[in-house]
Amino acid sequence: MTDLSGRHGLVVGVANKRSIAWAIAQRLAGCGVRLALTYADERLGENVRALAASLDAPLILPCDVTSDDQVRAVYGEIGEAFGSLDYLVHAVAFAPRAELTGRFLDTSRDGFRIALDVSVYSLIALARGAAPLMRGQGAGSVLTLTYLGARRVFPNYNVMGVAKAGLEATVRYLAADLGPENIRVNAISAGPIRTLASAGISGFSDILQVYRDRAALKRNVDAGEVAEAAFFLLTSATAITGECLAVDAGYNIMGM
Ligand code: NAD
Repeated sequence: MTDLSGRHGLVVGVANKRSIAWAIAQRLAGCGVRLALTYADERLGENVRALAASLDAPLILPCDVTSDDQVRAVYGEIGEAFGSLDYLVHAVAFAPRAELTGRFLDTSRDGFRIALDVSVYSLIALARGAAPLMRGQGAGSVLTLTYLGARRVFPNYNVMGVAKAGLEATVRYLAADLGPENIRVNAISAGPIRTLASAGISGFSDILQVYRDRAALKRNVDAGEVAEAAFFLLTSATAITGECLAVDAGYNIMGM
């Protein structure tokens, strides 16, 4: 197994053991990467602390990504404890529940603002904070999670589809800005997986079934498979940046 001891990563988006972020954290930690994990609020902090007990001396920090102060504090702590950063994983998305059901036409101004702030602007803020710590050592890698709802219409995904489209464009702009400093920025477009976030989407079970029926591999994907692809993009895909890699059992290639 690759030995990545001496490397450091920040993983934002662990809520519980089903979180895609947790699968990625475990994959990185399994190779010796020392991690900082954040939690969005105190309720989730308990989960994160309990999960993190299985890792080697992680930093556990509060971070509501809508707060510039909290983002700044996270990087202050990481700078002191780690001195540098190799990997940033952004696995955060949120839209008010009312926006994830019914007609897209009824999207509220507030719902739009919140969805784009939490799910898209947060990547910009987190990448900006990570860059100096990555720059200092001449390389870094940033990864975010998106969904096919950015490019195609899925019932009830609504404003989150618009947010994911913005996120995918953000990946390209960040990749161009940070490329000269050898910092890569990529996305994984994951197939549907049962998690806390996906539970908020009306009719999510139907989406899972459609993937099972139509994906080239005739099955769904699991978080471990997403984590494996994330590990590749983060640690060894040295010439890949600004890309969006589908990890969806081949659903997106099918015409029908
Ligand atoms: P999850 O609920 O485990 O993770 C979402 C995370 O976002 C949670 O940890 C939550 O605390 C965090 N979050 C929400 N608002 C926040 C805020 N203001 N500040 C900080 N953190 C906040 O669900 P997941 O499915 O693992 O989601 C991770 C990422 O994967 C999301 O971007 C999601 O859109 C994406 N994704 C999920 C699926 C799926 O089917 N589960 C498919 C494709 C992409």
